[in-house]
Amino acid sequence: MDIALPAIAVLALVAAAALLVALRRARAGADEARAAIARSAAAAAAAERRRAETLADLPFAALRLDRDARLIEANRLGMERFPFLAPRMGILEAFSEHELAGRVQESLDALAPARFEVRLFAEGRRTYRVAVQPYEVGGTREALVFLTDASEAADYQELRSQFVANVSHELRTPITGLRGLLEALGDPAMDAPTRADFLARASHETERLEALITDILFLSELEATHGEPATSRSDLAAAAADTAEELAAVAAEQRVTVVLDAAGPAWTPLTDRMARTVVRNLVENAIKYAGPGATATAAVRREGATVVLRVSDDGAGIPERHLPHVFERFYRADPSRSKRMGGTGLGLSIVKHIAERFGGTAEASSQEGFGTTVTVSIPAADAPAGP
Ligand code: ADP
Repeated sequence: MDIALPAIAVLALVAAAALLVALRRARAGADEARAAIARSAAAAAAAERRRAETLADLPFAALRLDRDARLIEANRLGMERFPFLAPRMGILEAFSEHELAGRVQESLDALAPARFEVRLFAEGRRTYRVAVQPYEVGGTREALVFLTDASEAADYQELRSQFVANVSHELRTPITGLRGLLEALGDPAMDAPTRADFLARASHETERLEALITDILFLSELEATHGEPATSRSDLAAAAADTAEELAAVAAEQRVTVVLDAAGPAWTPLTDRMARTVVRNLVENAIKYAGPGATATAAVRREGATVVLRVSDDGAGIPERHLPHVFERFYRADPSRSKRMGGTGLGLSIVKHIAERFGGTAEASSQEGFGTTVTVSIPAADAPAGP
């Protein structure tokens, strides 16, 4: 017994020590497991933060939708563009656009990406390029919808096709006229005065065609060189003086007096051809439309950092309803007069195009029966360095 007791005590001690070690190990294991859980939770949180930040900073509107195309979240640009979006809102309810809603749902159902364009009326009337990317995580299906504003490209495309349609129409009219006249001229029985009249009309149609083609080519040249830095210098006052002289005979024919009002040079970043075109289009308009007995004044002034060309007449004027449109391509307030006078309908749009290209403006004011003033303002340029 005496021997056995210490042995039992030793055994108990060893067992207690072993238990203690096991306990410590178990505790360390649990700590490690807890630390591992904490580490992976932190990693998951970091990954989620990265995902949210990536989505937020995308340079287009991005929406995350659930299986039923309801909004889970939208990125920063998405909320800016479509401030009416709210969580759980259905895509049809949000945009009232059946094509968009239908195609997103189809894409979610088939788990197949889709790309298309839609016009959304939600925020102005804009065209969006849409990319739908459905995916599944942990048995849950969702989709990302990316919306890129493509309005400018779409508007430009529309403008181009409209322009081509207008040009074709404008070209067809004189060509049809010419064909009719040439067919009639083929008649040997035609008397001399009629022949002379028909020939004069054919020649007029040819001039119209030529003017039209010159204007169209000039416009396309302006567009082709758009954005190129201005390296030219032209004196608008000198261009006005030259133009007034060149148009003196036509003005006299139409019984319109052209007055030049320019004091000293007015340097602009225009090319000489642009400067002449701007002045010529405006003075020619005054001659064509003001009517006999009218006076047209071309005034060129340097006003601060701007060169201002003001061509005014005291003639027929432009009816108020036409005034907002006269700078549009092919717009004519008085189509028959314009065509009779050899107008192309492009003169004022070319003037505006040139002015705006250099950060300037072109505006018209008019009162029917009292006259018209067209004002072109262009940032002034330094005089070219002397020889
Ligand atoms: P167009 O080649 O027909 O002259 P523009 O673009 O130069 O084309 O001018 C557009 C229209 O504006 C003209 O058709 C004309 O009806 C009107 N208009 C322009 N200038 C005048 C003016 N000084 N007086 C009256 N009408 C004008």
